[in-house]
Amino acid sequence: DVEFRNVSKFFGTHAAVDNISFSVPAGSFFSLLGPSGCGKSTTLRMTSGFEFPDRGDILIAGENMAGIAAYRRPTNMVFQRWALFPHMTVFDNIAFGLSVERQPRDIIRRRVGEALELVGLTQFASRKPRQLSGGQMQRVALARALVKRPKVLLLDEPLGALDLKLRMQMQLELKRIQREVGTTFIYVTHDQGEALTMSDQIAVMNNGRIDQLGSPQEIYDHPATRFVAGFIGNAN
Ligand code: ATP
Ligand code: MG
Repeated sequence: DVEFRNVSKFFGTHAAVDNISFSVPAGSFFSLLGPSGCGKSTTLRMTSGFEFPDRGDILIAGENMAGIAAYRRPTNMVFQRWALFPHMTVFDNIAFGLSVERQPRDIIRRRVGEALELVGLTQFASRKPRQLSGGQMQRVALARALVKRPKVLLLDEPLGALDLKLRMQMQLELKRIQREVGTTFIYVTHDQGEALTMSDQIAVMNNGRIDQLGSPQEIYDHPATRFVAGFIGNAN
């Protein structure tokens, strides 16, 4: 699991993340939900090791991440802008991280094959990114992150660039994939509908703090603060 203990991050004197504590059970789908600027990406970047907390501790599978750089963490990240290598095939894009690790060729072939099947792109293995739709590219990005078998997958608004219909389709797909692989997903979004549909638990962030943490049902039925009620759209 992932545990935040009294974590703060300052930019100048502004606390982008202000003394947050929460824990994410292993194998669950956890969302950080909140409006622009509330500190979601900063929280995710501290989990991945791209940013370090000024105060507090982050533990992953019981190990304190203090001083542990991104490339040594059991995490991987998927971004909104899928940075695929344009000159490489889908297969080679997914295989890239394993090649860098100098994994044997037959292992690479097997694991990339499994990842392609997981995201439903087996027939697209030899295409180039420019021959794919936006949703397909996002699937490649997902396969590329999962093929390295991270304990924790961090997703920062991964569907933000897709149109509404595709976004809803990909929400279900992401949820299915998370269930199938059992990897812990920490999912950042400002879209309450998305968080409510996909998550086991949601942390609603407001101005660097967590206003409420609970299941979609709890948050929808019993918003803890006026802010949460307004943000979830259940205010009256
Ligand atoms: P969005 O939904 O717009 O992506 P967010 O919830 O991801 O927003 P963050 O990117 O975590 O928000 O930013 C939180 C706060 O920290 C904002 O006020 C932002 O301006 C500030 N901030 C983030 N990164 C930096 C930085 N590198 N330098 C200075 N301020 C920063
Ligand atoms: Mg952000």
